[in-house]
Amino acid sequence: MAINVTKSFLPPIEEYQEIIKGIWENTWLTNNGPLVRKLEGQLKEYLDVENLLFVSNGTIAIQIALKALNITGEIITTPFSYCATTTSILWENLQPVFVDIEPKTYNINADLIEVAITDKTSAIMATHVYGRPCEVEKIEAIAQKHNLKVIYDGAHCFGATYKGKSLLSFGDITTCSFHATKVFHTIEGGSVVCNNIDLLKKLELYRSFGHKNDDYYMMGINAKNSEFHAAMGLCNLPKVGNIIENRKVISEKYDSLLNWEKLERPSNEIAGFTYNYSYYPIVLASEEKLIQVTDALKKEEITPRRYFYPSLNQLPYLDFYNPCPVSESISSRALSLPLYYDLSLDDVEKISAIINQNL
Ligand SMILES: *Cc1c(COP(=O)(O)O)cnc(C)c1O
Repeated sequence: MAINVTKSFLPPIEEYQEIIKGIWENTWLTNNGPLVRKLEGQLKEYLDVENLLFVSNGTIAIQIALKALNITGEIITTPFSYCATTTSILWENLQPVFVDIEPKTYNINADLIEVAITDKTSAIMATHVYGRPCEVEKIEAIAQKHNLKVIYDGAHCFGATYKGKSLLSFGDITTCSFHATKVFHTIEGGSVVCNNIDLLKKLELYRSFGHKNDDYYMMGINAKNSEFHAAMGLCNLPKVGNIIENRKVISEKYDSLLNWEKLERPSNEIAGFTYNYSYYPIVLASEEKLIQVTDALKKEEITPRRYFYPSLNQLPYLDFYNPCPVSESISSRALSLPLYYDLSLDDVEKISAIINQNL
């Protein structure tokens, strides 16, 4: 059977049916319904965070975060992430300024941030890439010194913790994606987490057109999510611990089988960090090797994914170029291997053998 880089988890259909039955009883389909509020409550408990809003996807989560924090001018960001991190900045007519990544975790290099700050900079937005934490203390100190807001794109971080706290709880706002391909999903969906109740209220207004009943406060958008999506989240949340456990076993199998003399990978050795096994990235010696390995896997109907490629400072629709040599090099050689809850260890052996033969 064909093996893809990921496979969405689906709960037993009866469990989903049981939860959505209520929708037929109350005919409440969307607009902050009871299942949305129940999911928000359960997520806050699971993640141990004070304020969280469920939104329609992880991209609009970033956009309402930028709006609610009044970000203007330039925003310092990472070139090594999914394109949505950059496009949401551009979509808000802001200027992304790319700061290169560091070679240990492939997260933004906090030591390079200060030189990129100008009098137009108003924020730093970084991604916790593959679920590994940015240097949040360093970034916090820089932000305080220069009076900048901090947003984290935490799309990969569900279930990961740093110093005993959810990785979704740092910065002014951390966004998350609950897209079907993520560790925890609601088919489409996402969240914003913040520590400030006034900011939460602002985000809530932005989520729902900027008005409450007949009072129009600001120019909002529609970032709401539906009862059907919340129901999927309510089914999946109790399973996420097991899902992460399975992903750990699979990841450790890859760890033990792949030839690390010829491959690189981001490090998990970060003090105080527990991983959620959200991706299994490897970095080949060259782009030619990456293509050779990908072709060999595809012959066996195994499809890895170039995640992330291209480096975002090289997106074709940008009209400027900030060189980021580390990110450009890593993204030309990075490949995410198949990883999902029921990938068999036999398949991991097969995939690893094909890769090792082609290094
Ligand atoms: C998946 C992802 C997003 C986008 O999330 P959607 O819910 O698909 O809009 C944003 N940033 C990163 C890093 C992602 O991996």
